[in-house]
Amino acid sequence: MLTIGCHLSSSKGFAAMGRDALKIGANTFQFFTRNPRGSKAKDIDPLDVLKLQEIVSEHHFGMLLAHAPYTLNPCSADPSTREFALHTMADDLVRMEQLPHNYYNFHPGSHVGQGAEEGIRLIAAQLNEILKPEQTTTVLLETMAGKGTEVGRSFEELRAILDRVELCDKMGICLDTCHVHDGGYDLVNDLDGVLEEFDRVIGLSRLRAIHLNDSLNPRGAHKDRHAKIGEGHIGLDAITAIINHPALRTLPFFLETPNELPGYQEEIALLRSRYCE
Ligand code: FE
Ligand code: FE
Ligand code: ZN
Repeated sequence: MLTIGCHLSSSKGFAAMGRDALKIGANTFQFFTRNPRGSKAKDIDPLDVLKLQEIVSEHHFGMLLAHAPYTLNPCSADPSTREFALHTMADDLVRMEQLPHNYYNFHPGSHVGQGAEEGIRLIAAQLNEILKPEQTTTVLLETMAGKGTEVGRSFEELRAILDRVELCDKMGICLDTCHVHDGGYDLVNDLDGVLEEFDRVIGLSRLRAIHLNDSLNPRGAHKDRHAKIGEGHIGLDAITAIINHPALRTLPFFLETPNELPGYQEEIALLRSRYCE
């Protein structure tokens, strides 16, 4: 069975996301831990979490994916910006323990001219401050398109971050298909080659989740603009190969395509019809 969901609005709480997921044929979902701009998070209602957990176990959902606010920059040149990212992510990880044994994904950040090397050092230093041996959450680094000075634009940069993290068993990777394509990797003509490279540089055992998006731009554009499934430069055939690939097919897939719920419902049905059971 394909494990697939999409990004859902968390404004109505956890149980409401579970119900939305069921409504659109999803068996997992992604949500922001707080407003994407990183403002203060609402208190978590334990009863609301309990209701979600009932849905999750009754309907055999896969792992859920929390997404950090995308405006955080753990490798900013400005110490107060780094501090804000540190406190926000540390707080998110404490909150995630109310929804234990799931994933927490974040964008490594932008080095803003300090150089990738320094960016990698700062990101790893932050992770070494916030990861705790007792946490049940696995923290995922997202593969980035390489827009501006984004760190994580290549498998090598992600590996370099992981190499510096002490509690490395708490870490994994979330591969965003739009970002990797925009980063220059040829998912369309050489999926096997890309995955072999991932395995050689990082190790496929680190790959925990897929952001499944088409791309509005050609390969290597470093733009990061998501397209609906089959309406971009990756295309439905390559996306079908991705969800069925032996190295990927049991991972959870998360759509971040420009859709409302009915559009997501259609994409999930389309992808389920293309999945070889
Ligand atoms: Fe993201
Ligand atoms: Fe993504
Ligand atoms: Zn993106």
